[in-house]
Amino acid sequence: MTGLETVLFTLLGACFGSFIAAMAWRLPRGVTVWGRSACPACGHGLGVADLLPVLSFLLSRGRCRHCGGRVAALYPLVEAATALLWLACALWFADPVAALLVAWLGTALLFLALVDAQWHYLPDAGVALAGLAGLLWLGWQDVPALWADHLAAAGLYGGLALALRLLVSRWKGREALGLGDVKLMAVAGLWLGLAGLPLFLILSGGAGIAHLLAARRWGGADGGEAGDVIAFGPALCLALFILVLAGPLV
Ligand SMILES: [Zn+2]
Repeated sequence: MTGLETVLFTLLGACFGSFIAAMAWRLPRGVTVWGRSACPACGHGLGVADLLPVLSFLLSRGRCRHCGGRVAALYPLVEAATALLWLACALWFADPVAALLVAWLGTALLFLALVDAQWHYLPDAGVALAGLAGLLWLGWQDVPALWADHLAAAGLYGGLALALRLLVSRWKGREALGLGDVKLMAVAGLWLGLAGLPLFLILSGGAGIAHLLAARRWGGADGGEAGDVIAFGPALCLALFILVLAGPLV
């Protein structure tokens, strides 16, 4: 991509960041996905000036222009993170289509991680978008042999997750690994193929344990009689994205 294309690509990422931040707020609360954005405090509809990624937040100093209510700092953070993610893809991949599909995957994963960390579930829409990007990416590779390998991997990763879910749930006496995690594992298989399994298990397992330890140390885990419960989704998302980015190297 040229310099200008890279800038436009990054700005597009910021807009998608704004979108997933809004969706991560709306979906779990059952707010319609299609309506116009409004201030959650005063209900005033937001105009174009309120919806510029990162910029609106900085210009309004994090407050609603109508009621002065605080805007969650999570919004500009998600917008900036998504923009950086798109910039990284633009710089990393020589092929613009590959950059677009991986940026699409990363955005869906960021959305899933956000929702799972707060609400402990992975919305099907996000998992489906990550899977669709994987199918398009496979189609774009134009290597027929990849399809069999990566579809088998989707079954294998998903099957392993399902077996783990049954085992641990029986052992712990409560639901251990959500069905959303199982579906996301299948999507990971679609992206990474059979050869990617060992690294994916090591990386996601390591990230999950690090997350659990951090939550125990600094809070964030839901303690209680059932023991610490953390969402495993963010670890899966992180591991998948790192390995997709590293794909050309591994
Ligand atoms: Zn307001």
